Amino acid sequence: MIKYKNWKLIFIIFVVLLNCIPYIQKGTLRKHVRVAIVCGADYVKITGKKGNELYNDFVVSLSAKFPLYFNSHNKPVEVNGKKYRGTLEIHNIEQKIWVINILDVEDYLKGVVPCEIGKISINLIEVAKAQAVAARTYVYAHLNQYQELGFDLYADTRDQIYAGVAVEHQLTSWAIEQTDREILTFRGQPIDAKYSSTCGGITANFSDIWIGESPPYLTSIVCRYCKKSPYYTWSEKIGKKEFFINLRQGLKQVGIILSKEELIQDFRFIRNRKSQRVNKVIITTTNGEYEIKNYQVRRVFGDGTDLRSSYFFLQPEGDSIIIAGRGYGHGVGMCQFGAIEMARMGKTYQEILRFYYPETKMVRVKY
Ligand SMILES: [Zn+2]
Repeated sequence: MIKYKNWKLIFIIFVVLLNCIPYIQKGTLRKHVRVAIVCGADYVKITGKKGNELYNDFVVSLSAKFPLYFNSHNKPVEVNGKKYRGTLEIHNIEQKIWVINILDVEDYLKGVVPCEIGKISINLIEVAKAQAVAARTYVYAHLNQYQELGFDLYADTRDQIYAGVAVEHQLTSWAIEQTDREILTFRGQPIDAKYSSTCGGITANFSDIWIGESPPYLTSIVCRYCKKSPYYTWSEKIGKKEFFINLRQGLKQVGIILSKEELIQDFRFIRNRKSQRVNKVIITTTNGEYEIKNYQVRRVFGDGTDLRSSYFFLQPEGDSIIIAGRGYGHGVGMCQFGAIEMARMGKTYQEILRFYYPETKMVRVKY
């Protein structure tokens, strides 16, 4: 039998444990998130409850009186046949229909984590937890991001991929519950928890990819965990003629239009010494010099879509050019393939997050 004295000790241990994860300041964060799930349609089909009436595949066109609100009724609301938790707010923005899904952050994550980390098995549950914390942190760092449009996040790669109820999975939902309200902070603020598929051996600095200084938690680190990724290294062989046609097209996409007579004579890569990412490219033509900025590099050297990463080298070979690259995605923050491997090796989600976001602190959101 446990003596009174022991109960007292257990109570003290319980209180200490409870305080292990500090809470973020109350009142600074909110419980719900506003996600734009339809961005500029002529009409949408809605199933849900408006006032006391239940509508089934109700067509909302521009002639409606906006804003319109729909709630769930025993089952989730539907937009064009896709189910969503929470409620819907429909607006007319510049003669187009926009649908905003308003829901609890924890429910939103259930429709995000499976899209971002893919299907996982129980032995990889720690990576789903790490992804849940990263995705939740991302939300809190980007609240009110598009305030003028009335929402916080897009439901695609501009923010995080969110696909509603259809993609929800028992294991990922459990991982979200297990990390309930946990986020990463730096100096008391939610961090910009960036993540991408594969870093290729070393993560990128924030400043390799975007304008601005790299915070300590988004500074390049060596990652030995993503070697099994199909994108760890990759190469493409392309004819020189085609390469230059693509390059001209790429330049056009970032607003640099070369005339037919203007010939590309040289290009010079400026890299970050540690991360090896191309930070800048100086292109010399018969007319002068052009500077390609870090956030334009992948677009310029891609063939219509972005190049897999800005960690690449060009190697001429006869009439061809070999683009030898590493990694997939921007490479900043958590390397998802690396995180999967860490989970497989038995690391906890806290260890994974500490590794990819150094100098951050885990806290629990208090609304
Ligand atoms: Zn990696």
